[in-house]
Amino acid sequence: MVQKHHATQLHYDFRLEIDGVLASWAVPKGPSMNTADKRLAMQVEDHPLDYGGFEGTIPEGNYGGGTVMLWDRGTFEPEGETSAAKQLAAGEIKFTLHGEKLRGSFVLINTGKRSSDPRRARQWLLIKHRDEHADPKWDLDTLDWSVLTRRNMEEIAAGKPARKRARG
Ligand code: MN
Repeated sequence: MVQKHHATQLHYDFRLEIDGVLASWAVPKGPSMNTADKRLAMQVEDHPLDYGGFEGTIPEGNYGGGTVMLWDRGTFEPEGETSAAKQLAAGEIKFTLHGEKLRGSFVLINTGKRSSDPRRARQWLLIKHRDEHADPKWDLDTLDWSVLTRRNMEEIAAGKPARKRARG
């Protein structure tokens, strides 16, 4: 799943369930379906599975304080013969997403793998592969709606109820 998270800075938390936990990356510019984009993805600590369904407001001063939207959800499968866990450990994971917004083939590459700088070592790139789902006109700003409640960030922050009609 992907959570849009307005904390100190707006970012998107990209999470893949691997070996019973959510391997997680914070993507400042958000994911893209445009193959020309290479999106910085900072690996953060694994999160428990039940965190992935969360949407709402985390009080300021707490870990992750701010507004959280469940921006996308679905399933994924690793590509090739190697397990997702082994690809993750090797610093390059190729996978196909079956989300509501993100679909098709992607790669996450740890560009800082050999760095002794701990911040640099956590740097990955999230890149869309060319396929029938790729979208050169991808515009994140048009996708500010929750797959859970159809609310936008403003409505979530204000504690508004879920929308009844689908959008997007
Ligand atoms: Mn976050």
